[in-house]
Amino acid sequence: MGATAVLAAGLAVGVVSSMAAGSAPTLPSLDPASCREPPATPLPSAPRFAPAVDDLLARSTPDSLMRRLVEFVGGGGNRHYRHPDATRYVLAELERMGRRPGVEVTLHPLRGFVRGEDLQRTVLVRLAGRNAAAPGVLVGAHLDTIDDAPGPPDAPVPGADDDASGVATLLELYGALQTSDLRFERDLYLAFYAMEEIGLEGSGQLAQWFFERRLLLRGVMQLDMTAFTAAPGRLFFVTDWTNPALTRFTQVLAGEYLDPRVELATTGCRHGEPCSDHVSWCARGYPTVFPFEAHAGESNPRAHTPGDEPRHLDPTHAYAFLRLAAAFLVELAEPRAP
Ligand SMILES: [Zn+2]
Repeated sequence: MGATAVLAAGLAVGVVSSMAAGSAPTLPSLDPASCREPPATPLPSAPRFAPAVDDLLARSTPDSLMRRLVEFVGGGGNRHYRHPDATRYVLAELERMGRRPGVEVTLHPLRGFVRGEDLQRTVLVRLAGRNAAAPGVLVGAHLDTIDDAPGPPDAPVPGADDDASGVATLLELYGALQTSDLRFERDLYLAFYAMEEIGLEGSGQLAQWFFERRLLLRGVMQLDMTAFTAAPGRLFFVTDWTNPALTRFTQVLAGEYLDPRVELATTGCRHGEPCSDHVSWCARGYPTVFPFEAHAGESNPRAHTPGDEPRHLDPTHAYAFLRLAAAFLVELAEPRAP
């Protein structure tokens, strides 16, 4: 995975150096349609690990999740991709929460941008499973924000829903994994993508990096806008660029792990566009699922504006996504006996 560098006070992270220079090898992308086929590794037929999921989230509440979100919005600096603040914030938070044996943190530089420029970068956390050859499981969210209004291109906006909601969920999961005794059969990844808003750049390069190494994943979940609701108690699954079997499986998890009053529905991406980082994985044949806060036509109207602030968000709604993501990771990574 490359050298180790010290990027912040006392913080050692692996740096993936093979992406830093040169042109990309021209490997054929898988047919996007293959991301819709039944996953090569069969999915479990039913949830099996409820005690482990409860154990993992023993200290998490809607309030603890919202606190993390508010802290990231306040402390994450300018999250436009031209600024490294959000990457630094996440690295410092991961360091503060500790790192149990088997956890590695790597920084992924971005090809195609001016070298030496201090841009935002993707942070990847891997918790090694017992069986490194078995397909792993990944949950991702994006670090960056953008302001759609005319003006300075890197004007800072809070991005509380888009996508501090997803990032806070990953940070909460990371903290939970550090304090839990759970060990897993398979590799488990948390991906904090850079540069989603400018064409899925960070996730595209990370997915390509996995693809070139033939690193297999049995499921990739995207968390992008999880905390605004126009219809409380309804949770949506995106049908574009996602895997139907994995989506069905995740809906079964929702039935098992969420408040039974939560209703499940589906939505396309707005205008069918490649709307978030799951597209980067799907385009390379990885099975993806994208649970989303609302119908595409009713998602947070303040996204990409200075008004995307925490006070417009719903902690109960956001917490449902945390539980769903925890269940997804645990059920697919498979806890091993102590
Ligand atoms: Zn977003």
